[in-house]
Amino acid sequence: MTTSPFTELFQKAVKAAYDLNASDIHIEPTRTGVDIRLRVFGEMQAPWKQLGLEHKTSFISAVKAETKLAIGVSGRAQDSRCSIDGLPIDLRVSLLPTLFGETIVLRILDSSREFGIDKLMVPNSTLSGLMQSIEYPSGVVLISGPTGSGKTTTLYSLLCKIDRTRKKIITLEDPVEYVIHGISQVRVGPKVSFADALRAVLRQDPDVILVGEIRDEETASLAFRAAATGHLVLSTVHANSAADVIGRLENLGIDRDSLRDNLRFSAAQRLVPKLCRSCSKPATMATICRVGEAAGFSFDHTDSLRMRATEGCSDCQAGVIGRLPVIEYIKQADIERHARGETSKPLATLSLSDAALELAIAGLIDVREVMNVG
Ligand SMILES: [Zn+2]
Repeated sequence: MTTSPFTELFQKAVKAAYDLNASDIHIEPTRTGVDIRLRVFGEMQAPWKQLGLEHKTSFISAVKAETKLAIGVSGRAQDSRCSIDGLPIDLRVSLLPTLFGETIVLRILDSSREFGIDKLMVPNSTLSGLMQSIEYPSGVVLISGPTGSGKTTTLYSLLCKIDRTRKKIITLEDPVEYVIHGISQVRVGPKVSFADALRAVLRQDPDVILVGEIRDEETASLAFRAAATGHLVLSTVHANSAADVIGRLENLGIDRDSLRDNLRFSAAQRLVPKLCRSCSKPATMATICRVGEAAGFSFDHTDSLRMRATEGCSDCQAGVIGRLPVIEYIKQADIERHARGETSKPLATLSLSDAALELAIAGLIDVREVMNVG
């Protein structure tokens, strides 16, 4: 059987995306045809390929066939998951009808990926804070941050640090993105809510539970009840900072006593582009002054501060070679002080901008990122 040129083009796009370390492939119908664009290190790139109107239907159909989407169906949202022959990746696929046709976004998941706290590339101080958070036998550990801020990766890395041979670990995920050996993973979705799944999981005698997200009162209350009855619960919550996590929980009906007794660790995370060593350039004095003013900080030494060369080089993608997590967190002692009313707002051990500053001083990120993370 011969492969159609459109199927071939799709396979080429996936290969290119893989080679460029792209996280997503966007297939976007337009007034004049179809654009294929890639997201690399968090940033959308100029179209990898553009097809004319005459190829639109054939190409979209080929993609639907290759990614196990229903071909005969159009006009409604669909999702699927598939693997790709010859590449160590899975694709999580989402289709949405738009004005000019069906747009398809493919998230690339590295199926051979191994999680490790040492792979997170965070400073030692942050690492020890994270490690402490999973040494508690029970309690709630929360990481907040926008979509795509790497908080799930951080939670998975923490989970993989827990001794799976001596603990029963169950995860509730919407959807399950990575399969981890030795852990029971439950898919949560439209039919089973986090709260329903959490209630069922508590009868499965777990030690550690990962709840993909706490987004309603019922899940929040169940998570804190699970913590109070001897479970370690790891989860994410929608909030802008480690301090805002506490306010968010209060909004979700968790009272101060329960917060004080059960919340062990509250963090906020962002991902920041990692500079290419080959082409980044020294930061200009004007930029350094601007960052210093905005961050309320004066730099003692400015030699190591770098800026991104957006033209890039053969080693990188527009001056960037990956992304680094920036994490701020509040430890239990400070959460307790806050819950006792001793502080109006608990202070993060290290703020997001301080954490970014450390990376900028190490020359790993563009100094201007210090202003962007707060
Ligand atoms: Zn470069």
